[in-house]
Amino acid sequence: MDTRTSAPPGAPDESTQFLNNIQAQQARAAAVIALPEHIGSILSQPKNEIIVNFPVLMDDGSHRLFKGYRIQHNNILGPYKGGLRFHPDTRLDECKALAMIMTYKCALMDIPFGGGKGGVRCDPRALSENELARVTRRFTHALGANIGPEYDIPAPDVGTNSKIMVWIMDTYMNTAGYTERNAQQRVVTGKTLECGGSQGREKATAQGLVHCITQWARGRGLTLEGKTAIVQGYGNVGSHTAMILARMGVSIVGIGDHSGYMLNPEGVNTHRMAEHVKKTGAIAGYSKSHGATRDEFFAHKADIFIPAALQNQITEHEAKLLQVQLVVEGANSPTTPEGETVLLSRGIELIPDVLANAGGVTVSYYEWVQNGRNESWELEEIETRLEKAMTRTYARVVSFAEERGCTMRDAAYALALVRLKQVYDQRKIFP
Ligand code: NAD
Repeated sequence: MDTRTSAPPGAPDESTQFLNNIQAQQARAAAVIALPEHIGSILSQPKNEIIVNFPVLMDDGSHRLFKGYRIQHNNILGPYKGGLRFHPDTRLDECKALAMIMTYKCALMDIPFGGGKGGVRCDPRALSENELARVTRRFTHALGANIGPEYDIPAPDVGTNSKIMVWIMDTYMNTAGYTERNAQQRVVTGKTLECGGSQGREKATAQGLVHCITQWARGRGLTLEGKTAIVQGYGNVGSHTAMILARMGVSIVGIGDHSGYMLNPEGVNTHRMAEHVKKTGAIAGYSKSHGATRDEFFAHKADIFIPAALQNQITEHEAKLLQVQLVVEGANSPTTPEGETVLLSRGIELIPDVLANAGGVTVSYYEWVQNGRNESWELEEIETRLEKAMTRTYARVVSFAEERGCTMRDAAYALALVRLKQVYDQRKIFP
């Protein structure tokens, strides 16, 4: 059995630094609200860290051992909730950091979910459709009762999508007792519409991001029509954000992904680009833009920059290059603490991940509720609810930041901690 490809020698642990950054962020926000020390210490580590190694039959007849993770950070507000990432660099500490972020995101949005995250260390682009299905199903089986519709509810993230969610759902349902099968459908969210997904989930994260941008513009008396934006990442979050903004008259002048970067001062045709990516898997090869280096991409002048790929993309270096008014974090933790300091010192505003990309988990919550009630809400209802949730939370974060004189990120984390503290104060620590 080949165990090499699924467990490459670890890159020097960037993921540990990522986790340290989120723990430091929590500590900063805890200081803002004078959070009792014992709550801070509970939240500084996940409740459960699950690691599974599982074999998968490959198309060539060989077997490969894969490593998967599920981190359950906190469930004081409700079942663990968070995405699954299929990526060659997926690491334990990365999942821990991302699970922590989910706890704060759900608490901030006042959604009755806790925080979780997980993934498989694999390159989904290098797997055939059948191999991808077998990895997904075997991973789900290995997780076993560690996930569940009232316990821990995965969703799509980098490298996963609605099709993969349906495979997880089907595998999980098939392991349940015959009479209880249908009640297991909501073990995952982000499913296809046909298999119990919600209207509006596919573009929910992007739509939430755009609500934040709209509120930001409104607060400054600006109109978005005629503005320019640059988007890094053209997957679920990046492509939908670009398409919605383009419909609103924002010109997308730069796009980047794992295959490279491109600029087009005239504005990229976002739908054609999405079709191209759907067909080829990457932005490379799209002819109607000119290639750029990573630095040229970050240094290109625009009004808004939207990181929608991976964490740690805006370090001090990129923060010095950016020529924009606003950074809106579509990705989770795309800005390092040093990067954020540089941005703010240069007068560039930042809408943090836990607020900006919370539309995804918000509509995932609607999907979970619909499944539980055997209902199917119309798109209009989902959109109205999402807009209200995003607008209300955006306003709460802005006014808290103004009152306390802190950054929007500190304000968002502090508000989440206030919510968590209320429950810890009332329930106390068992026994
Ligand atoms: P996706 O897999 O659909 O897309 C990821 C994109 O990032 C792709 O375009 C890929 O090419 C690009 N990318 C990967 N590695 C890169 C690199 N080294 N440099 C530049 N680009 C790179 O994933 P997604 O669901 O769109 O998630 C993107 C980000 O948004 C992640 O940080 C994820 O955690 C976050 N997020 C996603 C959701 C959701 O609903 N999908 C919700 C909240 C937050």
